[in-house]
Amino acid sequence: MALANDFATTLVEKDRIAQRVHELGVQIAKDLQRSVAATPAGQEPHIVIIAVMTGAMVFVADLIREMPIKLRIELVAVSSYPGTSVESKGVKMKSALPDKLANSHVLLIDDILDSGQTLHTLIDLINKEKPASLRTCVLLRKPGKAKLPVKVEYVGFDIPDEFVVGYGLDYDGLYRNHPAIAVLRT
Ligand code: 5GP
Ligand code: MG
Repeated sequence: MALANDFATTLVEKDRIAQRVHELGVQIAKDLQRSVAATPAGQEPHIVIIAVMTGAMVFVADLIREMPIKLRIELVAVSSYPGTSVESKGVKMKSALPDKLANSHVLLIDDILDSGQTLHTLIDLINKEKPASLRTCVLLRKPGKAKLPVKVEYVGFDIPDEFVVGYGLDYDGLYRNHPAIAVLRT
C-alpha cells in the first residue's frame, strides 16, 4: 500500500514547498502587521485566518508556524467536487462562516485556485461581514483557468493545468499525506 507507485510525476518537491511556505509566511505576517498597526484607536486589531477545509489543512498548518504574530484560526468547510470527479461542479458550503469577522483582518487560505468558484463564493460571503481587510492566499494556481475574477494576493506556485494531489490535496480522499505535489499515474 505504498504511495510512491501511484504518481506519474512530481511537480513541486517537498523542499521547494517548505522554502516557499517560509517566504509566504514572512511576507504575509509583515503585511498583516502593517494593517494591524493602522487600526483606528479604540478598535481591537484582530487577525483571523480562515482555512478552507480539507485541502488547505497541511498548507495552513505549515504556514501559520512561519507567522510569529497573534492570530486566530478558523475553518470553513466547502466541497467543490463531490464524489470522485476531478472537475469543479459548483460550491457547497458545509459549515457556517466563523463569526466576529467585522473589523478583523482576515486571511483566507485555500489549497488551489482553479475555476475560482470556491474563493469567489467565500470572498463574497466574508465581505458581507465587513472585515477591516481581506487577503487571499493559495498554495497553487492554475494559470488562465480562473473563470471568475478572483483577487489573490499570495500564490505559492503556478502549475500547469493538471489534476494534482499531495500536501493536503486529495483524489477521492486519498494522497493528502504525500509531502510533495504530484500528478497521478493514469
Ligand atoms: P475552484 O473552485 O477554484 O474551481 O477549485 C478550487 C477547489 O477545487 C480546490 O479547493 C480543490 O479542492 C479543488 N481542486 C481544483 N483543482 C484541483 C486539483 O488539481 N487537485 C485537487 N486535488 N483538487 C483540486
Ligand atoms: Mg478545496
